Amino acid sequence: MNGVATIALWDDLLVGDELAHLAGDPAREARTVPFPDDLNAAVRDALVRRGIAELYAHQAQAYAAARGGNVIVTTGTASGKTLAFNLPVLDALAADRHARALYLYPTKALAQDQARSLAELGVPGVRAGIYDGDTPVQQRREIRGSATLVLTNPDMLHIGILPRHDLWGDFLHNLRFVVVDEAHVYRGVFGSHVANVLRRLRRLARIYGAEPRFLLASATIANAGELAAALTGEEATVVEGDAAPRAARTIALWNPPLLDAEAGIRASALGEASRLLAGLASRGLRTICFAKSRKSAELIHRFAADRLDANTAARLAPYRAGYTPQQRREIERRLVEGELLGVTSTDALELGIDIGDLDAAISVGFPGTVASLRQQWGRAGRRSHGLAVLIASEDALDQFFMREPQALLDRQVEAAILDHANPRVLDGHVAAAAFEAPVDESDVATLGAEALARAPHVPELRHTPRGWVWAGKESPAARTPLRSTSPDAFVVVDAATGETLGLAESERAYSTVHEGAVYLHLGRQYLVRELDLGAMRAVVEPFDGDWYTQAKKETTTAIEEPLRVERRLGLELSFGRVSVTEQVVGYQKKAVADGSTLATVALDLPPTTFDTEAVWFVPRPHQLEGLEAMPLLLSSLHAAEHSLIALLPLWAMCDRWDIGGLSTNLHLDTGAPTVFVYDGHAGGVGIAERGFDQFEGWVADTVRLLAGCPCERGCPSCVQSPKCGNLNEFLDKAGALTLLNRMSNLA
Ligand SMILES: [Zn+2]
Ligand SMILES: [Zn+2]
Repeated sequence: MNGVATIALWDDLLVGDELAHLAGDPAREARTVPFPDDLNAAVRDALVRRGIAELYAHQAQAYAAARGGNVIVTTGTASGKTLAFNLPVLDALAADRHARALYLYPTKALAQDQARSLAELGVPGVRAGIYDGDTPVQQRREIRGSATLVLTNPDMLHIGILPRHDLWGDFLHNLRFVVVDEAHVYRGVFGSHVANVLRRLRRLARIYGAEPRFLLASATIANAGELAAALTGEEATVVEGDAAPRAARTIALWNPPLLDAEAGIRASALGEASRLLAGLASRGLRTICFAKSRKSAELIHRFAADRLDANTAARLAPYRAGYTPQQRREIERRLVEGELLGVTSTDALELGIDIGDLDAAISVGFPGTVASLRQQWGRAGRRSHGLAVLIASEDALDQFFMREPQALLDRQVEAAILDHANPRVLDGHVAAAAFEAPVDESDVATLGAEALARAPHVPELRHTPRGWVWAGKESPAARTPLRSTSPDAFVVVDAATGETLGLAESERAYSTVHEGAVYLHLGRQYLVRELDLGAMRAVVEPFDGDWYTQAKKETTTAIEEPLRVERRLGLELSFGRVSVTEQVVGYQKKAVADGSTLATVALDLPPTTFDTEAVWFVPRPHQLEGLEAMPLLLSSLHAAEHSLIALLPLWAMCDRWDIGGLSTNLHLDTGAPTVFVYDGHAGGVGIAERGFDQFEGWVADTVRLLAGCPCERGCPSCVQSPKCGNLNEFLDKAGALTLLNRMSNLA
């Protein structure tokens, strides 16, 4: 264990075959520097009053870089990123009473936390105001007029602020800084939209005579500079040397025991989590345990309480999204003071909310991105030696990490990907921009040439001597939701309350919210009572059953246009545009406990077609030698497709539900056996292209996944997929491994 030599209270818990890997982050001294000479005296005094006498080196670096241009700070959790972007802003606001700043947060809670800490800092001239959907109308005018620092979210900026820029003229004219915190959250569909919202903001600021600097902060990712450029349309300096002090941290990768090696079935991760949570709590160690759903969090809490005496059990609590800020702060206080010993939570806590310094953090199931996992682990051991645990689920990526810990702990390949130029995303913003002010050639500098190129294709835009103008009635921004690539998404409505829970993109609605589907929203389960195709509405009710559903669907793809074709790994690899046609024909009810099939139900739904981007390859005959017979050929390709899809999220930050695939022994367009992996969002958001760019590493990881899985003939941890439209029929693990091995060896 790297430099971690002390005997910790948890040592006797971390024993047995379940311990897949033990590692340590050594303690680290802070690297500090004095305040910059030119820092405004009022800011310096405010910091000194808060007990801050010097800066971490990366904070000073960010301050200096912000004088010359845009900056993205990508240091670790709890490394003082906030002060890094606050410094240049506070400095500017304190020095010039006209200067203004805009802060963007992905959630209202985070904006509230930031507003509170800015107020505590008490720098003269800094008047922070929150402007979001909860801001009472009568306060809005006052905030626009007198706040020097406005905190909001991308949705409000998109539909509330930019279209009403006439009310914000002074603010925009004086806008010096735009802060984008938690920037890694802006990826995929959401990020592609936010990138356009930020371009519209730059354009309007320019119209009012301002060129604001962008200050971004992100979790550690592989492509921070690229993300900043993709989001803002401008270059940014990357500040990444983390100079904050750190306590030592022990890291344990924990794999529930294999119950049936042949079938690849493991003991429940929830059970293991409750065992560790109970063990840590009974040693007086304050522990937070993150689960993926509310149901799992509640079960872990209950199982852990059952293992403890009544006194200790009373010091455990579940923690949910939906608590009021007061309830939240009460739990946080009890935790920090040691009154509470264990909290189980969904990942609602993950984004930045400060709950102080705990002894241990347990993540139950890989949360989907290394950045999220690091944020969860960051709860433990800030000031003294902490313990961070990942308990693996049976998912392929979880099991891959158990066998290849360095892929999780040492490599940094995960990149935040977005594509603002996807016409399905871009068109709504071109319309919104034209509504805000006529769009002409001079806007290429901010909106990009791609926006001008789309203008003739956007309905309701009219070309006039002033440029492209909006000829429709109401503001188009309201018709462009930021979390979907189709303006015509299905609304998911709670039958009891009538509340809209979320949106389901029309191309995915039939497989996710068909009648009888179990739908997961913010960690809660719902059962779909009715899918109204005409009204594009799914009516759901809370659901407490112990089964989930898997849609059975028939998929075909047609190649529309190859955009990049290269000889890679001994075969022809393509990236391009495809159209995908899917028809959901039924679904299975499966038991949560063991995945067994409880029932199969037929559905009568129309086919849907959408355009997207795909990466595809046609194996060479010698790479398929010995696999040519049917159904072995199809089963080998199908298994290769599934395992590739399982590992792509390691390279492109996304969910496996964001990716689709198709494998066929004979594709009409290629005339040969072909494997497709496509972006599940209409138009594509860059995920498939990332796979194309990183094909060699991606395939090499997939070979290791298949070769290392202890199962005999394929299992949920390698070739089976929870979203397979063929319900995991026709999968040959050995055939897939043979093919991918031959590709990796460049055969
Ligand atoms: Zn397996
Ligand atoms: Zn499949």
